Amino acid sequence: MDDVRNLIVIGGGPAGYTAALYAARANLEPLVIEGFNWGGQLMITSDVENYPGYADGVLGPAMMQDFRRQAERFGTTFLTDDVTRVDFSERPFRVWVGDDEYRAEAVIVATGATARQLGLESERVLQGRGVSYCATCDAAFFRDKTVVVVGGGDSAMEEASFIARFASRVIVVHRREEFRASPIMVDRARANEKIELLLNKVVEEVLGESSVTGVRLRDTVTGEESVLETDGLFVAIGHDPNTALFLDQLDHEPETGYLVTRGKSTETNVPGVFAAGDVQDHVYRQAVTAAGSGCAAALDAERWLSEQRHASLSAGLAVS
Ligand code: NAP
Repeated sequence: MDDVRNLIVIGGGPAGYTAALYAARANLEPLVIEGFNWGGQLMITSDVENYPGYADGVLGPAMMQDFRRQAERFGTTFLTDDVTRVDFSERPFRVWVGDDEYRAEAVIVATGATARQLGLESERVLQGRGVSYCATCDAAFFRDKTVVVVGGGDSAMEEASFIARFASRVIVVHRREEFRASPIMVDRARANEKIELLLNKVVEEVLGESSVTGVRLRDTVTGEESVLETDGLFVAIGHDPNTALFLDQLDHEPETGYLVTRGKSTETNVPGVFAAGDVQDHVYRQAVTAAGSGCAAALDAERWLSEQRHASLSAGLAVS
């Protein structure tokens, strides 16, 4: 069947584009179904200073353009749309975009994860201009500044401690009295003299025109409103892996939905289907680790495809 491709990559972030780059250079002529909003989390990031090779830093969207262009150079084709359904129950695997069906011998799932947002219009407007979802990426921009961190889980505690290495004042705003974070993480934050914990408060609005200047808070017990001046807002209320399409077919962590891969490989429970990047990693979550994982998935897929070809050739020889 000549309409069956070697490889489909689902997802257009660092993992997907790197997988495509490696697969294209291995002559697999991959199709990347990159999503309508291709680029992933880097598209809501401004300066990226920790991706090796960009010594002067780079804007997140520009970096994703570079990734995409590099994969294209070696013969990757792109479909800028969202996958709506998959069937991994038999080979070739089937992937749909609306009514259009695409088939391939191997698939790499690299749909990433989405940082949970507060859902405020003012938050959206100021993304990359003081509103951030990644302390590792952006904390260094807040040297000697005041920063608010929203959340009461381990991420919020960890991010607050990390940001406190740079900022002069870090205020953790949490919506109730008890923390979801482990006691040791809360104790560590409490022991840090730069960190204050502000309980029973939610952010109602992010203030500022061209950059963040403050947040309007509401007390969840008294309903009282107040304004807190700040230079930055880090939203650390968790991430959701973009796995809804795959949950009935691929093994995943029951509570979180992250895909499960085997050992150090990118193999899923379905031979020929691989998972790379944040969709299967809630620990590191960096562009560079996602890219490395995308590379591994392409190498795994390439090896797997060549094993399949050898197996079918040997079977053919045995029959003749
Ligand atoms: P999480 O444990 O789900 O915590 C999310 C926090 O954000 C909760 O405190 C929640 O409040 C709050 N929240 C959720 N939606 C909110 C909203 N709309 N407005 C205000 N607050 C909101 O997520 P996480 O902290 O990212 O951690 C995820 C997993 O990774 C956990 O298993 C965690 O232990 C692990 N982790 C571990 C480490 C470490 O050990 N070093 C570091 C980071 C993460 P409520 O508590 O009221 O629900």
